[in-house]
Amino acid sequence: MEFALIERIRDRCTGARADVVLGIGDDAALLRVPAAHELAVTTDTLVAGVHFPHGADAADIGWKALAVNLSDLAAMGAMPAWVLLALTLPQADAAFVDGFASGFAELMQLHGVALVGGDTTGGPLAIGVTAHGLVPTGCALRRDGAQVGDAVFVTGTLGDAAAGLRWLDEARARRDGVDPSSRAALLQRMRRPTPRVAAGIALRGIASACIDVSDGLVADLGHVARRSAVGIRLHAAQLPASPALRAACAGELRIALQAAGGDDYELAFSAPPAHEDFILRELAALGCGATRIGSVVAGSGVQLVDAADRPVALAQPGWEHFA
Ligand code: ADP
Ligand code: MG
Repeated sequence: MEFALIERIRDRCTGARADVVLGIGDDAALLRVPAAHELAVTTDTLVAGVHFPHGADAADIGWKALAVNLSDLAAMGAMPAWVLLALTLPQADAAFVDGFASGFAELMQLHGVALVGGDTTGGPLAIGVTAHGLVPTGCALRRDGAQVGDAVFVTGTLGDAAAGLRWLDEARARRDGVDPSSRAALLQRMRRPTPRVAAGIALRGIASACIDVSDGLVADLGHVARRSAVGIRLHAAQLPASPALRAACAGELRIALQAAGGDDYELAFSAPPAHEDFILRELAALGCGATRIGSVVAGSGVQLVDAADRPVALAQPGWEHFA
């Protein structure tokens, strides 16, 4: 059974790369790292009922399992190359595997990534992906380079995925007056996040620090502040919102979803203010856009302020697994 499932995955997740010396089928893959490059390696696990609802569409799960890993590579400024897939399945469900592989392959092919191995076991549904990316030596974006005086930016828009989760329940969405087309757009962002790979690469040599927003903007920029030994000041009114989020909610709720909702998979980064024009132009050309949302200051922690410079309190700065 296990062998047949691996065959199904391999047949669907095609994508040849000249740097794969040996792919699926041996005890380990053999991969050729080009000269003058470093390997960026990351792994992320999705657990049913925690990272996606039980009964979620298999293709969406496949897409998201890869997307969250490519997002980590994007945050490093790395070009995705090879991935490994560890699948734990409650049963040998060929229909689930086919659906999963179709969503996984769809995103793989968008980024020219090759699936080079993995593991298939029985147990409660969980998906582990390990992704490898390439970055010219010394050019990776890190969390520890933010400097006092830098501007802080974010790609795309914030809060959609968290809003999608909030209004996953259709009856609740109706009660809250969320129109069906906005709800559909928010759900789509929750189910199929877009890893900002091209943006990360464009920010090599430009961003002083970078992180992808998975747990929530304030919580994630908190890691940048800590690693860089600086403070970060964010302007609530400047946080970018999609038309769907604007239509669905306003005020405190919208700000909470944007600042603390999580699952956005946008890139939050710092850069010297002199790079602002380049950043706005370049990222607009790449389709995601970027917004200046704050600045790096002396001190510690992340402070969110309103238009009158008063602190905005958040009930919960971000998602925590063991809280
Ligand atoms: P081993 O027992 O040597 O670990 P396996 O039987 O687990 O080998 O896997 C056989 C081959 O199939 C290996 O090359 C492994 O990398 C690959 N493989 C197993 N599961 C997956 C999966 N879910 N996705 C991609 N490749 C897989
Ligand atoms: Mg194995």
